[in-house]
This record gives sequence, structure tokens and C-alpha cells, in this order.
Amino acid sequence: MTKLIQGYEVVIGFETHTQLSTASKIFSRASTAFGAEPNTQAAPVDLALPGTLPVMNKGAVERAIEFGLAVNATIASHSVFARKNYFYPDLPKGYQISQFEIPVVQGGSVEFFLGEEKKSVRLVRAHLEEDAGKSLHEDFVGMSGIDLNRAGTPLLEIVTEPDMRSSDEAVAYAKELHKIVTWIGICDGNMQEGSFRCDANVSVRKPGAALGTRREIKNLNSFKFMQQAMDYEIRWQIGEIEDGRAIQQATVLFDPDTGETRAMRTKEDAADYRYFPDPDLPPLVVAPEWVERVRSEMAELPRVMAARFVRDCRLSEADAAAMTQNKATAIYFMQAVAEGGPPKLVVNWMMGELSRRLNEADLTPADSHVGPIPLARLVSRIADGTISNNAAKEVFDELWNGKGHSVDLIIDDLGLKQMNDRGTLEKIIDDVIASNPDNVAQFKAGKEKAFNALVGQAMKASKGKANPAQVNELLKKKLAG
Ligand code: ADP
Ligand code: MG
Repeated sequence: MTKLIQGYEVVIGFETHTQLSTASKIFSRASTAFGAEPNTQAAPVDLALPGTLPVMNKGAVERAIEFGLAVNATIASHSVFARKNYFYPDLPKGYQISQFEIPVVQGGSVEFFLGEEKKSVRLVRAHLEEDAGKSLHEDFVGMSGIDLNRAGTPLLEIVTEPDMRSSDEAVAYAKELHKIVTWIGICDGNMQEGSFRCDANVSVRKPGAALGTRREIKNLNSFKFMQQAMDYEIRWQIGEIEDGRAIQQATVLFDPDTGETRAMRTKEDAADYRYFPDPDLPPLVVAPEWVERVRSEMAELPRVMAARFVRDCRLSEADAAAMTQNKATAIYFMQAVAEGGPPKLVVNWMMGELSRRLNEADLTPADSHVGPIPLARLVSRIADGTISNNAAKEVFDELWNGKGHSVDLIIDDLGLKQMNDRGTLEKIIDDVIASNPDNVAQFKAGKEKAFNALVGQAMKASKGKANPAQVNELLKKKLAG
């Protein structure tokens, strides 16, 4: 069931520009490193000097293949570079080299969890292209300058079908995509530096109606802005339609200061760009052997790893997805399980206490104060009944604060061992029953609350060290007898 907003269904499709992590540019040997002095990393090809010719960077193609394999797409054995013609100061050639009719990656899908719900967003394509330069507007000198360091940086543009039905779903998709490209290492994922930029195409419609007219919010480079921009845009479009105005297809920008989107230009159609195959570049041929070699060299993919956790550790799909949200989390989980931590308990602690502490301290699992080995010991002590869950939190605290190194020593020092000696516990329970005749009578008259009161008394008498499950069991038995 799709959630409606004021009776409207939201439709979103994403186009994401991921900067590929090659050392040099897509058609020249200039460096792609970020942050250099303007125009120090622009080769003649990037400057569009006459007579220069582009040479395809194999590393960029290889990364596109890796992406295609990661999302179960088809790798085209034959794809074509095209010229996308437009004029802009940061584009000295007067055209951008991109792929148009035949992209290198076709189809595929991205799967993720939105809360408990599994979602699948279909990809249309992923194509290779070059980035443009940057215009630098230097207000203090009243002039604009052009920096061509970014010109020719390899991009993989990843395009989805309009499959998403809420801003939450779209942000979850973007996070999953970000995870995939950084996991397989084709992109550094640095959003501030523009390595992962999303364009959100947003429209609204009455349920069952044809797709509405979309507006495209450009260059969203943080998950927070992404969410704000789409939420604003959705409200705005519904407001326009409710007021009787039609939506015009447009490209819009999000202004983080005002939290609003505003139209930048009316949207061009593909025909405006006069695409045609680039005569300077031969078709890109990717032999099946190349694809197989890339496949064989790729590390285990997050979705494959998640399936393994479901199969071998009996995790639910949602838990397995959480344990593969990034490499540091996955490695931590695997180490804790390898050390004998019961998988489900490890997950609970990683998603609960551990993640709370990591967030507070702004740390990743890789530099956690409590490593996977002590965590495994800790949860094993819960599993074997040595300590209660609450006592485990105290031990965790001690570990986190660096007090004491061994879980078992901390348990001893703090006297947290649960009472597993049945004789002592029976004695406590007999005493509780003898000294609380009112509660016992009420329980026998069918009052559940009275039973809980007796459990409470027994726990108190044991100074919290009795195992609640055992207290329950013994009390029931004795009261029935
Ligand atoms: P263009 O060629 O103008 O870029 P595409 O057909 O390639 O348009 O679509 C661009 C993106 O817009 C895709 O991600 C697609 O899913 C999305 N999209 C297309 N139509 C709609 C719509 N009506 N509402 C929301 N998103 C849409
Ligand atoms: Mg497009």
C-alpha cells in the first residue's frame, strides 16, 4: 500500500552521478585528485585544444562493469559514446562525451529495506560520461573564472525507473546505492566533494492516474538535503495542482538556506542536445572474458554476504541487511560470530547498545571501544545464563570505559553472576511465598498481577541475581503444588 499525501501518490526516479575512483581522467592522463590549484590538472584533451583526441581509460570501463555485476545488470558487449551538444563556459568542447542510445550497463535493480519492508528499485541504465569543469564566481573581484580540473573526470550516471513512492524510499535507495558503489570501491562516496550527486525527478498524481509532469531537483549532495528538497517539492506540487495550476516540466535547485526549491530553467528535451555518435571514439567493446575476469576478481557483494548470513547464521533478511550496511559493520559481525557469539544476540547488541555508543562518540565499528571479541564473550555469558541482560549492560559500560579487560573478571568484580544454584533459589521462593499470603491468595483467585508481584519479591530477595525465567518457572511450579 502506497502512502498518500493529501490524496496524492508521489512518484520519484533518480539519476545519480558517481565519480569513478580512477587516478586519471576518462579520456586523458590528467589527475582526478580533488582540491588542486585551478587548471593545474587539465590536459590538452580536457582543455579541448584543437587536434587532440580522447583515449578511453580502461579503468573507468572496468568500474562500470563492476557496478553492472553488483546490481545484476546486463553488460553491453558493444556500447557507443555520443556527443551531447550544449554551450556552457565550463565545457570548452561545446559538447559532453556521454553514452546515449547504447549504454554500457543496462537494467539491473537495487534492493533494500525501508523499515521492515523490502523494496526493489529497477535501474534503467548506467552510462559512462565525462564531467564538466567548474565556474568559480569570485564576487569579491566581480568576475567569474573557469577551473577545468574537473573536466574529463569519469562519471557513471545511474538512472532508475520511476519506481519510488515516497521521499523516505528515495533516500533509502540513495543510501543503498551509496553503500554499493563504496563497498565495491568504484567511487569514494565523498558527497561534500561531489563524488556522489543525485538528481531527484519528482511528480505527483492521483492514484491510478497516468504519471504526472515531473520536475528534476539537481545536484543533491547530502541525504539530509535530499529529503528536505523532495518533501518541499512534493508539497509545492500538490499546492500548485490544488490551486488549479499545471506543473511545468523544469529543472530546479534546492536552496538549503530557505529549504525551498526554485526553477533554474525549463527542462530541455533529448532532441535539444543533438546527440550523435562521437566520431573520435570507436564503439566500446566488452568481451565476455573481460566481464568474467572482473567478476572473478570482485570481493563478496553485500547482497551475497547478506544471503550467507541468512543461510549460515539464521538471521532474518532485515537483520542480515543491517549487518551488511557497510564493511566495518559486516567485519565486526563476522568476527563476533567467529568468536562464538550467538548471531541473533550479536545483532541485537550491535543494533542496540553498541550502535548507540558508536553514534554518541561518532565512531564506526572499526574503531569501537568494545571490539567484536569482548562483545562475543559478553553475549555468550547472557546466552549461557551467567548474567542477565541488565547485568550485561553494566559489563558493557565497564568495557566501553576501558575498565577491566576480561568479561569474566568484570562479572566477578561487580558480583553480577546470576544465581544458578537451584537450592538457594528454591529457599528464596519458599520464603517469598510464606511471607506474602495475600499475593498468593490473589494469584490463586486468578490475578496475574499478583504473580508478577511475587516474581518482583523473589528478584529483590536475590539482589537481582536470580534468573527471571527460572524464578518464573519455580514460582509457577510451587504455587501449582
Ligand atoms: P530525460 O531523458 O529527460 O532525462 P528520462 O526518461 O531519462 O528523462 O528520465 C529521467 C529520470 O526521471 C528517470 O530516473 C526516470 O525514472 C524519472 N522519471 C521519468 N518520468 C517521471 C515522472 N513522471 N515522475 C517522476 N520521475 C520520472
Ligand atoms: Mg536522463
